[in-house]
Amino acid sequence: MRKFSGDRLLVATHNRGKLEEIAKLLEPLGISVVSAADFGLPEPAETEDSFVGNARIKGHAAAHATGLPALSDDSGITIDALGGAPGVYTADWAETPTGRDFALAMTNTWSKLEAIAAPEPRLAQFRCTLVLAWPDGHDEVFEGVMPGQIVWPMRGDQGHGYDPIFQPLGSSQTFGEMDRWEKNQISHRADAFRKLVDGCFK
Ligand code: IMP
Repeated sequence: MRKFSGDRLLVATHNRGKLEEIAKLLEPLGISVVSAADFGLPEPAETEDSFVGNARIKGHAAAHATGLPALSDDSGITIDALGGAPGVYTADWAETPTGRDFALAMTNTWSKLEAIAAPEPRLAQFRCTLVLAWPDGHDEVFEGVMPGQIVWPMRGDQGHGYDPIFQPLGSSQTFGEMDRWEKNQISHRADAFRKLVDGCFK
């Protein structure tokens, strides 16, 4: 496995929230972050049908454009009774002509489960794939998962995306009811990060 040896890492994202979350996770290792947006890089189209495919597109585009190693992240939720949907299309399910509407996306998700009378518990997984890509084309891939179930009605106003209808295994709260610290101990992103740190930063 290839190691990362610098003290500043390029993160291939234009999302401030993701950048801050990643910065917090790398701070204890003495590594600071800089984003693709800081470099004025364009956002590449996510044209693959897998998390790893899309994370590779983002990571390699940033590494190639800057000559620096770049970290990218692709994530979403997979629902067993829907054959793994929405998966890589998790954010797309929230798109409306006036911007993303996650309350609508969650309502539609629940309606789809009701329409097929999916048995309970309605098992689902939040997934996160991290890719650390180097300018020479090499990469390392890490996958994190948090199993749980889809619940209704929505509960909690913390977090983002589908958090209010996702109840992680072993908890009576949804991700939307947990504070950020609590969620960051167990989330799919934390799981992938632990693997990245063990693999490339130690
Ligand atoms: P992307 O990785 O930026 O392409 O988008 C992933 C999408 O998955 C986000 O827009 C969210 O809707 C959803 N998602 C990923 N992680 C989480 C999470 O921790 N909580 C809630 N939704 C999430």
